[in-house]
Amino acid sequence: MRTVYVNGDYLPENEARISIFDRGFLMADGVYEVTSVLDGKLIDFDGHAVRLQRSLDELEMASPVSKDELLAIHRELIARNGIDQGMVYLQITRGAPADRDFAYPDPDETTPTLVLFTQNKPGLADSPVAQKGLSVISIDDIRWGRRDIKTVQLLYPSMGKMLAKKAGADDAWMVQDGYVTEGTSNNAYIVKDGKIITRERSQDILHGITRAAVLRFAQEAQMVVEERNFTIDEAKAADEAFVTSASTFVMPVVEIDGTKLGDGTPGRVASRLREIYLEESRKAAI
Ligand code: PMP
Repeated sequence: MRTVYVNGDYLPENEARISIFDRGFLMADGVYEVTSVLDGKLIDFDGHAVRLQRSLDELEMASPVSKDELLAIHRELIARNGIDQGMVYLQITRGAPADRDFAYPDPDETTPTLVLFTQNKPGLADSPVAQKGLSVISIDDIRWGRRDIKTVQLLYPSMGKMLAKKAGADDAWMVQDGYVTEGTSNNAYIVKDGKIITRERSQDILHGITRAAVLRFAQEAQMVVEERNFTIDEAKAADEAFVTSASTFVMPVVEIDGTKLGDGTPGRVASRLREIYLEESRKAAI
C-alpha cells in the first residue's frame, strides 16, 4: 500500500481524508503538477515548482509550503514508496471552507489543501510504446480559455482520451480555429524537412516543462525550431510527429486521423530527441 501525503501527514493511502467541502472536489478550484522519477530522482523539479507558483499566482492562491519543503516531501515519498521509475503527483486546492460558495474564502480562515502521492511505473523510460509510436485523432478544443494554468479541471481531456479510445486510437490532438492547440495531456509537434514545428506559448496551451527542455536540447543540437500554428492537414503531410509530457518524455506519433506519417514508424528526429531528453534529464535529476 502506498504512503501518501496530506496536509503535513504521511499516511497509508486508505487513511487519507479530504473534506467534502474542499473546493477542489466541488469546483475544480485547484492546481497540480506531475514530476517524473528516474533512478529514484526527480526530473526537472525546478521547472515544475516554478510553473506551480505561476498557476497559484494566477488564481490568487497561496502555497501552503515553501519550494524547499515541497522538494523534501517529494523525496520523502519517493523513499517511503521505494520509487525507482514513476511519477509524483502534487495537488493544491483552495481548501475547505465551512460551506459551498462561489466566492473565494478568506485565505486567513481557509488554508489550501496539499496532497501528494506517488505512481510506481517500472520501465517508464523504456516504454515499448515509444518503439511503436502513437496514433491520434483530432477533436475540437472546447476547453476554457486559460489552459496555461495547470488546473485540475480535466474533464474534457478525459473525454478526449475516451473519444480516442472509442475510435481505436491512442490519444487526441485538439483543434481550435483550424489549428492544433495540444494533445489531451501533452504538447504537440510536427517535423517537416528537418524543422521542428510546435505552437507558440500563449493562454491557449499549457507551457510544458518537457516542451521547454526539449526545445532547448533541440536548439543545442543545431536543430531548427519553428514556434507557430499548424493544421491537421499540415500534420498529416509532415515527415514525422511527436508529443511531449513529463510522464511520457518524447513520444513519437505515427498516425493522425487514420493517415500514416512517412512509413508509419517513429521518426528519426523524435527518436533522437527522446534519447537526448532522457540522457540530459537523468544527468540533471535531483
Ligand atoms: N499540455 C497539457 C494539456 C497537459 O496536460 C500536459 C501534461 N500535464 C502537457 C501539455 C505537458 O506538460 P509537461 O511537459 O509539463 O508535463
